[in-house]
Amino acid sequence: MIFEADAETMPRSDLRALQDRRLRALAAYVHERVPFYRHRFEEMGLTPDAIQGVADLPRLPFTRKADLRDNYPFDLFAVPVAEMNRIHCSSGTTGKPTVVGYTREDVDLFARVCARSLAMAGAEPGMILHNAYGYGLFTGGLGLHYGGERLGMAVVPVSGGMTERQVMMIMDFRPTVISCTPSYALTLAQELQRQGVGPEGISLRYAVVGAEPWTETMRTEIDQRLGVRCTNIYGLSEIIGPGVSCECVEVRQGSHVNEDHFLPEIVDPDTGQVLPEGSEGVLVLTTLTKQGLPLIRYWTGDITSLSSEPCACGRTLTRMALIKGRSDDMLIVRGINVYPTQIESALGAVTELAPHYRLILTRQHTLDELEVQVEVSEEFSRTVAVEVFSDEMVEANEHLRALRARAGAAIRGTLGIGVTVRLMAPRTVPRSEGGKLQRVVDQRHLA
Ligand code: ADP
Ligand code: ZN
Repeated sequence: MIFEADAETMPRSDLRALQDRRLRALAAYVHERVPFYRHRFEEMGLTPDAIQGVADLPRLPFTRKADLRDNYPFDLFAVPVAEMNRIHCSSGTTGKPTVVGYTREDVDLFARVCARSLAMAGAEPGMILHNAYGYGLFTGGLGLHYGGERLGMAVVPVSGGMTERQVMMIMDFRPTVISCTPSYALTLAQELQRQGVGPEGISLRYAVVGAEPWTETMRTEIDQRLGVRCTNIYGLSEIIGPGVSCECVEVRQGSHVNEDHFLPEIVDPDTGQVLPEGSEGVLVLTTLTKQGLPLIRYWTGDITSLSSEPCACGRTLTRMALIKGRSDDMLIVRGINVYPTQIESALGAVTELAPHYRLILTRQHTLDELEVQVEVSEEFSRTVAVEVFSDEMVEANEHLRALRARAGAAIRGTLGIGVTVRLMAPRTVPRSEGGKLQRVVDQRHLA
């Protein structure tokens, strides 16, 4: 089902004309209302009418997270706080949280793009949505909540945590759709399995997962263990929250960007130059219709690529690939750029491992050491009949030694560097409780 067919299937030339029009209005709007942007235009020697359309966008500088922090809490708002309808904060994964404000129209837009996303993911009016995104300052919970209501679903606002209770509600209420982080989807799957419930006993058919990077390996795992077709939902609070883009359940190859409202560009992480379609780089987003906190060329730091190839679902909206990571979660290990998702993909090829891992970085003298802690699958742990995975145990068991060597080789094959692999017993690597999972522990500054 397509929630707003006019917008979502608009011919691309009409869409571009709409974006041009909206961008002109945006340039005039921020120039008039936001001193930060007015000064920016002045510094560049530009008047707002220098921006006639999307083609002129690269003339404007980027807006960065630091600009939001410098204008903490409300100085980038384009309307007085009294005209705001809601305030959220980003989750603060990378430092002090940034504050975002929504007018009544922005709250409405947020609900509509989340309703679009849920519909893309397979949801329909009348279905129950088990919404296990955290409620509160984080945009995930309320975003999907209002989106589900707008679509006409019955939303259960479970929020994160209390996994056993969530499982009970899934079994008793029989929801068709779940929204949560991918790592929490697996936490729930594991608890269901522990209680002896297999995928055929679970009412869920669709899972809308996002808020943290994940991979095709995790997709397969979520699909199989929950008995669903899961889709990616992407967003960030600075732009609106979830609902910037979502995959269509039919195709699941790239998330359709709601680009009548959020204009995407891909730029070179080092030079900021706009890159041609298909190239991988940093996603930069401009809000075309937001009133409370309009942002021009916001540097998301997220690494992805775009494709405007026609999609079998009928939508004309451009698609972005799964996020490879944030430019700031890129680890530099002995001079090599490493994204955690690359390690996840490499480990995904080793079937005896579970997709629960953690990366510990240390520095011995001047040399970086990367330790990859990864769980073995429950099946494998039963087969080898080992419960505690101490170093001595692994050394003493040829199956474990062989598995560890294969995991190391898979990572070396992807990254080109050797790492230390530590096999962990099932359920010993920390899990998400519904919030964002921190997979990297960087202890290098302590060494
Ligand atoms: P913070 O930036 O403090 O984490 P947000 O809650 O706004 O605050 O999180 C937005 C960020 O979460 C995005 O910039 C991106 O890095 C990550 N994110 C959101 N959705 C996804 C997704 N589907 N895949 C990968 N990363 C995602
Ligand atoms: Zn599609």
